[in-house]
Amino acid sequence: MNIECPTCLVALREVRLGDLVLDECELCDGLWFDNGEPELLVTLASLPKNALQPLAFDDSRKAVPPGQRKCPRCHVVMKEWEWRSTHVDVCPTCRGMWLDRWELQKILAD
Ligand SMILES: [Zn+2]
Ligand SMILES: [Zn+2]
Repeated sequence: MNIECPTCLVALREVRLGDLVLDECELCDGLWFDNGEPELLVTLASLPKNALQPLAFDDSRKAVPPGQRKCPRCHVVMKEWEWRSTHVDVCPTCRGMWLDRWELQKILAD
């Protein structure tokens, strides 16, 4: 089943990064992690750097501001979290996580 970008409200597409299959937004470069997937970030650290280069970066397409974004699975408003000096949106129900590619890069660089 397709899920929608919490920010742009368009359908996400599946993207394979190493051993992970994530859902990605083509417009805002956001990535959706289902519960448990953040622990697999270690896997991502071994990827070539260009695998995580931001693709598009078109902020004007972001329809929903932080703090109002809803979990694409549960449709409840996600909580903003500061994690390793980046901002991520976390679903209080399913523990899914939404973040931008560049935020992920920052996390991996720490
Ligand atoms: Zn988006
Ligand atoms: Zn959720």
